[in-house]
Amino acid sequence: MRHFPIFLDLRGRRVVLAGGGEAALAKLRLILKSEAKVTVFAADPAPEIVEWDAERKLRLVKRTFGPGDALCAALAYAASEDDAEDARVAALARADGALVNIVDNLDGSAFITPAIVDRDPVTVAIGTEGAAPVLARKIKADLEAALPSSLGVLARIGQGFRAAVNVLPMGRKRRDFWSEYYFNIGPKALEKEGETGADLALGDLLVDHLSAAPVKGRVDLVGAGPGDPELLTLKARKLLDKADVVIYDRLVSREILELARREALMINVGKKGFGPSTKQTDICASMVEHAAKGDHVVRLKSGDPGVYGRLDEEIDALDTANVDWSIIPGITAANAAAAQLGQSLTKRGRNGALRFLTGHDVKGFAEHDWRGLARPGEVAAIYMGARGARFLQGRLMMHGAAPDTPITAVENASRPDARVIASTLARLPADLEAAAPDGPVILMLGLSPRQAQIALPRLQEEFA
Ligand code: SAH
Repeated sequence: MRHFPIFLDLRGRRVVLAGGGEAALAKLRLILKSEAKVTVFAADPAPEIVEWDAERKLRLVKRTFGPGDALCAALAYAASEDDAEDARVAALARADGALVNIVDNLDGSAFITPAIVDRDPVTVAIGTEGAAPVLARKIKADLEAALPSSLGVLARIGQGFRAAVNVLPMGRKRRDFWSEYYFNIGPKALEKEGETGADLALGDLLVDHLSAAPVKGRVDLVGAGPGDPELLTLKARKLLDKADVVIYDRLVSREILELARREALMINVGKKGFGPSTKQTDICASMVEHAAKGDHVVRLKSGDPGVYGRLDEEIDALDTANVDWSIIPGITAANAAAAQLGQSLTKRGRNGALRFLTGHDVKGFAEHDWRGLARPGEVAAIYMGARGARFLQGRLMMHGAAPDTPITAVENASRPDARVIASTLARLPADLEAAAPDGPVILMLGLSPRQAQIALPRLQEEFA
């Protein structure tokens, strides 16, 4: 992030702008939304600027910009649409100590002006570092449509009430009060009885909340899916929005953690395969401790919480401590890997059953029904199996599996850096060693990438 977004208090501050054409007008329309004292320097100003001067919305000085014109100015805009003139203005304004923006010149500017969605006092600023103005316009249009025009009025009424609401304890109670106002009571009262109604409703709501029973904490055991944030369920998304505390595993992607409420306490209990880990008992204790304080805890686990997630131990701990909980399923790595391969997990005439295996368990490399797995057409998703590839190969071949049985390793399934390593049982350990994956890997026994599988017949067909 090269440009750091902030909101500048321009009340009564001086802002100068040099230029009188289209670029100047576009910027002035934005600047005039603020409470700054705006001075425009233009020898030949557009009629709108002359009008705004007459209406005292700004002060027009009918000459080109000169030394000292930006003294005491917070911001200076060079908007003459002439590179040499803009550079001259920028140098003078900089010397006067102002922050300078040259219109459409990112590198010459100390700041840039974002696209704005205005629901004063709610303001949304959209910036793309100058990279994609089209994108900024689209986002702005979407937000304009999504944010009701009453939002600004509600926020202004709410603003006047903030001090009174401080009688509620900080955190969840205060937040619940405001969300009920903004998303339920406020809009209804405003629609029915106008601003006075919305104002009165705030008082009534506060009385209700002051006399309400204390909230009971709870834990939701939520599947975060394989990594792509778009593969989160709507429920997971909503819970992340509400959580007071998020306790997450190492494999939960950064993009998904970004979706948690800003103020949420984020606790990393990540453990890496064979590496150091937070003890399971500590994870359970942490969940119970926060829920006991009345917090809403989201226990975020990669994929589906019920697949190799030690879910039962966590549920037992919650039951023992009498904490309410629920499970929100997620998309497991096997689903994402199959999608990545363009393959289905079950197929008529190939496999009517699908197995999930773990490559290692508490005792080390895990034992399974190797004879069954070695049969042609079997499909199994092997979690945590990359390190045990040689063991797996040995066991399967010993029980009669064909050396050319397809097996595909998928690293970082569903993520932008996903990698598909197509292999066979005979070559698996060598292929994995050569690929040296360092993200999570799932092995798909019995499946190869669809593209590779159909490429040959399709080529033959095309050239027939
Ligand atoms: N609950 C998870 C699995 C946790 S066990 C789920 O349902 O997916 C951790 C193992 O899951 C990793 O060692 C790896 O085998 C697999 N895994 C998780 N995310 C993955 C991903 N994005 N790509 C490939 N494998 C993944």
